[in-house]
Amino acid sequence: EAKRAGRGVVRVFDESMDESIRFRRQIEGGLSQAIARGELKMVFQPICSHSDLEVTGFEALMRWNSPEYGPISPAMFIPIAEESNLIHELGDWALDEALAMLNQWPGQYVSVNFSPRQFRRTNFVGHVVERTQHAGVEPNRLQIEITETAIFDNAERAADTLYRLRQMGFRIALDDFGTGYSSLWNIRRFALDCLKIDRSFIDGMGRERESAAIVHSIIHLGKALGLEVVAEGVETEAQLQALRVAGCSHMQGYFLSRPVDADVATRLAEQRHLMPVEEPVPATVSD
Ligand code: C2E
Ligand code: MG
Ligand code: MG
Ligand code: MG
Repeated sequence: EAKRAGRGVVRVFDESMDESIRFRRQIEGGLSQAIARGELKMVFQPICSHSDLEVTGFEALMRWNSPEYGPISPAMFIPIAEESNLIHELGDWALDEALAMLNQWPGQYVSVNFSPRQFRRTNFVGHVVERTQHAGVEPNRLQIEITETAIFDNAERAADTLYRLRQMGFRIALDDFGTGYSSLWNIRRFALDCLKIDRSFIDGMGRERESAAIVHSIIHLGKALGLEVVAEGVETEAQLQALRVAGCSHMQGYFLSRPVDADVATRLAEQRHLMPVEEPVPATVSD
């Protein structure tokens, strides 16, 4: 009866568990070779001012093209790397790649994602300082992006780490803001420069009064606290207009630019402003 049915269910469940564990192991194995095999690259997504689309910075995002599985999203492989020590190797590689770009860009900052485990590593501050000095760049051109998950566990220690990073001159951004736990408490307590509004709120702005209200509140709060606020995931003209009304100072999203390769990023950095997406075709000068 129940026992028999139960056993069937358990067996199916176990098989799918096996499957997913095996898959994770394969991903882990592939990832551990990915750097040496040159399968990873960094792409860069412009972050720009709302007023005149000036490119003020770039978010560095990792890409993995696996020979076995094709392109795999970091949303899938970063959490796997995070569960092993691989995250340190991948993260160090990403940081070095991102820092190297700064020597080619006239004045923008680069914003690098750090997972909770990276952030909590022993002597994280010393490590970042060392890599930055090695690259020969000013600390104020590196923005460290962390999520609330990274600071929630051990708030005391996190506050100290952020304080010291900021003392050294690094910029600190709280990523995916609004989705984490105890958001308001965190921004009061931690040394921050920037809030990145999670793209789920931007996505909801046109549809739900709630999302629009939250976006407005975050922008107000950020301003009142002297923080830069970046709206993530801006995909439409309508969202851009709504953010203008809300008084948002900075934006990032497919409507402005997808993440691009290093050489394209350098061209955008030199050009300094993103061209309007629908640029009017210049009238032909006739004689
Ligand atoms: P994130 O840090 O929140 O990065 C923003 C994500 O939103 C990126 O996804 C970006 O490509 C995507 N995005 C940007 N604009 C739009 C838009 O208009 N619409 C939509 N739908 N998406 C947009 P991506 O590159 O797939 O990265 C996913 C996540 O993986 C990142 O989220 C970050 O948490 C993690 N990640 C990526 N690269 C690294 C890395 O080098 N180190 C670490 N630790 N994590 C990374
Ligand atoms: Mg990010
Ligand atoms: Mg984000
Ligand atoms: Mg995210």
